[in-house]
Amino acid sequence: MKIPFLDLKAPYLELKPELDEAYARVMSSGWYINGSEVSSFEGEFSTYCESKHCVGVANGLDAIHLILKAYGIGEGDEVIVPSHTFIATWLAVSHVGATPVPVESCEQTYNIRPDLIESAITDKTKAIIAVHLYGQPADIGLINNVAKKHGLKVIEDAAQAHGARYKGRRVGSLADAAAFSFYPGKNLGAFGDGGAITTNDQALAVRVRMLGNYGSKVKYKHEVMGVNSRLDELQAALLREKLKVLDEWNGRRKRVAFMYLESLWGGNNDLVLPHWISDAEHVWHLFVLRHPKRDQVCQYMREHGVETLIHYPHPCHKTAAYENDFRGYTLPVSEMLADQVFSIPIGPHLLDVEIEKVCDVLKKAVKHV
Ligand SMILES: *Cc1c(COP(=O)(O)O)cnc(C)c1O
Repeated sequence: MKIPFLDLKAPYLELKPELDEAYARVMSSGWYINGSEVSSFEGEFSTYCESKHCVGVANGLDAIHLILKAYGIGEGDEVIVPSHTFIATWLAVSHVGATPVPVESCEQTYNIRPDLIESAITDKTKAIIAVHLYGQPADIGLINNVAKKHGLKVIEDAAQAHGARYKGRRVGSLADAAAFSFYPGKNLGAFGDGGAITTNDQALAVRVRMLGNYGSKVKYKHEVMGVNSRLDELQAALLREKLKVLDEWNGRRKRVAFMYLESLWGGNNDLVLPHWISDAEHVWHLFVLRHPKRDQVCQYMREHGVETLIHYPHPCHKTAAYENDFRGYTLPVSEMLADQVFSIPIGPHLLDVEIEKVCDVLKKAVKHV
């Protein structure tokens, strides 16, 4: 039995009748851009996120980028970002011409450390991007407090945390605005690219919609130099079906996570299990472990039929894209995490026998190395 990291066909097969019906509905409608599926999805997703507005966009990177642009953040500005994240968080800042200022992540939760944010604020700082990494909400209450004190915007990067809650409230409604990705492997994944912005700030919603639609609210009246970034009609129709089962599927992810935790708890001292804060309701986008001999553990697992992935093997400041800007910069926690983290298979379609095999192989791997 070989266990792939992720099986993207299983979600399709489970919802095949509904998805095929949605596909046929759009195909036969003759309307493929900005139609009723997009507006219905926007309404349903903003309700789900407990936010007032939702604007569909082309992908998660664009969602962050458009929020920054709509808030007028650009050349000469600084934006605080977590040191340990997917590079899109940093790229969105760079793409508006601003500078990402990394703050180290917590060694337990892997999310940005709110207590280190204040010392990174300068008179150029305009915003903080809080990433809800691996499905766990960042400690947004503390982040909002620092931001309020210094008059900064807080943007949620919720690309990995659809449906998660912080103190009972959904991500997507916890700060000034939130960015979501519907990349196929995410908790709410499309069958291609997609993204959305949620916010309670009506002016921001109007502005990001205008920016993503060639800078126009009224056809052929271009107020600013906008871009083309739209959620397409077919993806919206498919996402509407998947949104109906999101809570149930997140529940199935949680069950897998708890089976892993129960099986792996207290075994090997070098294997560090996921940790979360009591205010957070984790949606387990990824199940991330840490081990000082990570590469040997993963190699053993691969040789024994279990695929693992690393999120992420290179700290953003050490990638070729950023190494010139960050020469001589050390971010010890983010570097340690890049060396030690690895992700084991998790998802709503993992079978109990597969979960048992992953645990069995992992326990043997940590004994073996
Ligand atoms: C996936 C992801 C993004 C980018 O989403 P795309 O849809 O691929 O552009 C941004 N931030 C984080 C944390 C992500 O995981």
